[in-house]
Amino acid sequence: MSSNSYDVIVVGAGVAGLSAAEALSRAGARVAVLDRRPYVGGRAYSYMHPTLGEVVDSQHVIVECCANVVDLAKRSGADQHLRWFDRIPFLEPSKEGAGPRLSYIGSGALPAPAHASWSFLTAKMLSAGDKLAIAQSLLKFLRSYPQTDEEPFSAWIARENPSDQAIRHFWHPLVVATLNDSFERSSTKYAGQVFHELFLKSSTGSRQGVPTIPLSEFYGYFARLAEQQGSELHLRASVDRIAQLPDASWQVTSSTGEEFTAPNLVLAIPFEQTAKLLRTLPEAAPQRANILPHLEHFEYGPYTTVHLWYDRPITELEQAGLLDSSLDWMFNKAAIRAGDPSHTNASGHYYELSIAASFDELHQSREQILADTLAELPKFFPGVLQAKLLKSGVLKEAKATFSVLPGLDAHRPNASDPGGGVFLAGDWTRTGWPSTMEGAARSGRLAAEAIATACGAPRSFLAPELPASGLMRWIL
Ligand SMILES: Cc1cc2nc3c(=O)[nH]c(=O)nc-3n(C[C@H](O)[C@H](O)[C@H](O)COP(=O)(O)OP(=O)(O)OC[C@H]3O[C@@H](n4cnc5c(N)ncnc54)[C@H](O)[C@@H]3O)c2cc1C
Repeated sequence: MSSNSYDVIVVGAGVAGLSAAEALSRAGARVAVLDRRPYVGGRAYSYMHPTLGEVVDSQHVIVECCANVVDLAKRSGADQHLRWFDRIPFLEPSKEGAGPRLSYIGSGALPAPAHASWSFLTAKMLSAGDKLAIAQSLLKFLRSYPQTDEEPFSAWIARENPSDQAIRHFWHPLVVATLNDSFERSSTKYAGQVFHELFLKSSTGSRQGVPTIPLSEFYGYFARLAEQQGSELHLRASVDRIAQLPDASWQVTSSTGEEFTAPNLVLAIPFEQTAKLLRTLPEAAPQRANILPHLEHFEYGPYTTVHLWYDRPITELEQAGLLDSSLDWMFNKAAIRAGDPSHTNASGHYYELSIAASFDELHQSREQILADTLAELPKFFPGVLQAKLLKSGVLKEAKATFSVLPGLDAHRPNASDPGGGVFLAGDWTRTGWPSTMEGAARSGRLAAEAIATACGAPRSFLAPELPASGLMRWIL
């Protein structure tokens, strides 16, 4: 075996690629992981911003029902850098002389599915009538959610006929924050999954885990675990071409000129990068013909974050959903990072404001986005009027998440669909999850399972689902 021969080559060191490499190397396979960037984490990345002089990332959040990411975080030790929140704070803007109003939705002492009832009943952001109507609508996802994805969530919600306030203060914040797209462009299946998994099935499903260190450092733990198990990590190694050799093994050529060969190749990269690499195969190659036509059906949802450093604190909240605003979420990054045991990167009074499904902002200048953000902030954090803005930055991610467009499931491939030793991973593949770190982690493990099966040594790598709790154990 030459030094560049492996059992498996994984292209992509995002969550999907790292998850595949960790599972395969744990099973004893010799794995090489190649990524074109100088850091791991893929879209869940952080980097030293050259002009701000700060390590920035777009804050990512997991929830406790993300069984595979949580499992990888525990195995790798990254879990020591997760700050868990039992309740989600929501802020309404100040109006007519009244200050901003805070409500919490989260778990209480009651068993599932009633665990969030107390917070829900006492939340000021919804009227009593809206609470009753929302509870009745949510019951439709009690046992499950649609298994087919043809219906847009806009059609489902139109039948429920909620009030304008219920849409603005409940349905919109939760669906758009988790699926990163509009009701029209999201299927009821995945919206229903969010409500079922997070708010009904288990009393802990919606606990939020927020990484307290920059994201590439967080996912560095996953990479180190894979390396300790024998995986080789090659960064700054863009794969420009793949080819099948006469002995049926796969050869990957990186931008560094190095060649890697293996009988199994995992493409753990986004759908448009997958299409690009498959196009380097001969037109008649089944891997290309099997997959390419499906990739045309995928589209992205954009996400924008605004990063602000002030000379003093503007709020004590560590995070909050912002209602009736162009802004969706506030993360108090300094407080979140300062709470970390290693106390790294807790720089100044650093806040991140995020805008989900930011299709409008894609076409706006960074100056305009910053101006709009600064105009919104005093409505939620009046203390900002006394604070001095020290520096700011705007990150636009045009290709943040793939949209769970109605009917897309028919085009999401299984890991083994290309055939002939090529496997697919990535959040966009058929994971049963929307575009999330959990979807990515599952896809990597599913690809590892498909390879183990193809090699005649079937193994299961997926973590068990978060079990139903409370009364849901009898209901499901
Ligand atoms: C701003 C933002 C906020 C988000 N918030 C959340 C959140 O709160 N919670 C959540 O669960 N999810 C969130 N997501 C989604 C989450 O980041 C993704 O679903 C997940 O990271 C996808 O992982 P992946 O491994 O499938 O793909 P990627 O992360 O895209 O990884 C693919 C990797 O492949 C590499 N690559 C591509 N082409 C090549 C090539 N030719 N050669 C070599 N390397 C290549 C890339 O450099 C990259 O590292 C967010 C995404 C963004 C952008």
